[in-house]
Amino acid sequence: MAPRTAKALPDLSQYGQLAEYNRKRHFGVTPEPAGKGTERKTGRPLEFIVQKHRASRLHYDFRLEHRGVMLSWAVPKGPSPDPAVKRLAMETEPHPMDYNQFEGVIPEGEYGGGTVMIWDKGVWAPDAVNRLGGEDDVDRQIKKGELKFVLLGEKLAGSWVLVRTRGTRQWLLIKHRDQYASDEDITVTKPLSVVSGRTMAEIARAGRATPRQIAEAAGADPPSIATGGNSRPPRPAAPRKATPKRARPAAARPRARR
Ligand code: MN
Repeated sequence: MAPRTAKALPDLSQYGQLAEYNRKRHFGVTPEPAGKGTERKTGRPLEFIVQKHRASRLHYDFRLEHRGVMLSWAVPKGPSPDPAVKRLAMETEPHPMDYNQFEGVIPEGEYGGGTVMIWDKGVWAPDAVNRLGGEDDVDRQIKKGELKFVLLGEKLAGSWVLVRTRGTRQWLLIKHRDQYASDEDITVTKPLSVVSGRTMAEIARAGRATPRQIAEAAGADPPSIATGGNSRPPRPAAPRKATPKRARPAAARPRARR
């Protein structure tokens, strides 16, 4: 290690990969986790997650673990398993790995205010064409603007690619042709949380969203399951935590339908 002066150096963590994430949020107000980097344990597969997020507009946040943070893209129409469909994916700020547990409601007026569902989760691996890629391959492919990977999730699986189209932040998310390709619209056929089995409207109501946020969340559920704002009678005694604290992530709920 290079010798350091004994004098304390300035804290540079605020300039790290999660600086933008932290700067945009008020952690005394939002139930989202504060951003800290995570030490990578070797041998553990890389996590991926897709969060359905009804903010000012509906989108799906597609996140891949890389070097202790979740690289993130906002996909307005959601991922498509159809290789003929290219989905716009806007690169957004890296998120902390703790965010993978977050399902709930971001208060109105806060950054990204609205309802968040854990729509899919699983593991991913970089595809270095004829071998399993490592972190350096990911850095190289991102720099080149063509990141190839395989997913093992509950809704998304197989071989995919993110291709940068212009500037630095605009990408396309495309499914490669393989046994997991299909023309099914999984945003409609598989609309429920993979951790809680809930709809967007149910997450909004449990997270004490405002009436407007509840209506918007319900509008983000497909018509087949949408129940429209507050009109549906409350479900019988959904398991509630005893603590009176406001909206918290519902990570450890039993898995139900999805
Ligand atoms: Mn989002």
